[in-house]
Amino acid sequence: MTASVASGDEGMLARRDEVVSLFTLSFGRQPAVVASAPGRVNLIGEHTDYNGGAVLPIAIAQRTWVAIGHSRDGLSRAVSRELGETGAWRHADAKATHAWWDYVAGALVSAESLGGGRSAREVAVVSDVPMGAGLSSSAALEVATILAALALEGVTLAAVGDGAVAGGSRSLRDVALAAHRTETEFVGVQCGIMDQFASALCREGHALHLRCDTAQATAVPFSRGVLIVDTMTPRALRQSAFNTRRAECESALAILRTYDPALQTLAQAAPDLLAESALPAPLDRRARHVVSEHRRVREFVSACAEGGDGERLGALLNASHRSLRDDYECSSPELDWVAEHCVARVGIDGARLTGAGWGGCAIVVGDDATLRTIAPDLSDAFETSWGHAPRTWITTPMAGARVEA
Ligand code: ADP
Ligand code: MG
Repeated sequence: MTASVASGDEGMLARRDEVVSLFTLSFGRQPAVVASAPGRVNLIGEHTDYNGGAVLPIAIAQRTWVAIGHSRDGLSRAVSRELGETGAWRHADAKATHAWWDYVAGALVSAESLGGGRSAREVAVVSDVPMGAGLSSSAALEVATILAALALEGVTLAAVGDGAVAGGSRSLRDVALAAHRTETEFVGVQCGIMDQFASALCREGHALHLRCDTAQATAVPFSRGVLIVDTMTPRALRQSAFNTRRAECESALAILRTYDPALQTLAQAAPDLLAESALPAPLDRRARHVVSEHRRVREFVSACAEGGDGERLGALLNASHRSLRDDYECSSPELDWVAEHCVARVGIDGARLTGAGWGGCAIVVGDDATLRTIAPDLSDAFETSWGHAPRTWITTPMAGARVEA
């Protein structure tokens, strides 16, 4: 364990140095501030967010580093190690242009309301968070940029729980909300609040229990390892299937409200109400998933608070996968393969698809050492079965966003 912690710390220092040298090379001087924010993965609570339920993400080991300084010629600029191309814009005229730096330009605009300044700035980005893999590279970029912009203006953040820097009137929660506005209002991607809240507010050794209806967030102790398996399958059908599920959930809620007009969200429907209302297929199964998944999040949180018994956690993870596969019908053969391949092994608690589904990533939860041992075999066996290799990452629950010393 000490070896992996040490190499992790060295990796972090290396990334910080890298973003400083990218900034220096690109803009001809040292940056004033470096901030970083992690990607995230959701442990349990899938398709609950837009149904008023809860989610339980952790911050992953992969982070995005942002170095920032004031610009000297009135033009804002951003350079990314991953994408090469440098963007330039006037802060006062910033608008989305379908370029990667929309996330940076939008984050600087969103940061204004928190005291993040209105001047032109230069930004360098270095990241280990894979883009478009469902691990939320976009939120990591938004959150790190906003935090860097605030630190550049000397804005300090008040403690939320015990997760943030003491002092000041703004909090990491405000940063999360500003990052969410960046994505929805500036970039124009309609997403829930999980990604930005996880990246900003997660704490090392904890998951974040986030109620999506109230945005109430609580840290929950969680110390298991997580193997993330990206099945690398096309997700062409995902958007239309996702829209269909959302519409089905709205229809289910409308019918349930004819029985219980006070019902606020689908996640809050009581199992008795589902039985009584006899929803037509497939709405009955969709609603059963949402209601049971919401309950599984609560049970998972209780299990974590009571010591994190692997068997209890694993049973909930496996039940979540079955519910997503059979009731929500958003799994894929490759995701089912990963879930089945990993159950009933010593040191493995359970496995499930994570994210929207219809391809994408699965997680396997267990002890860190076991996950490190099985990951190469799992990749080989996956490739033998499916003809292509998955991408895998192993993580434990890491810290959320921070200003780097
Ligand atoms: P996800 O958040 O799941 O990784 P998104 O499509 O929401 O996928 O966000 C990915 C986009 O975010 C990229 O296409 C790019 O525009 C931007 N982005 C994220 N990380 C970086 C980075 N390191 N450098 C440049 N752009 C980035
Ligand atoms: Mg994203």
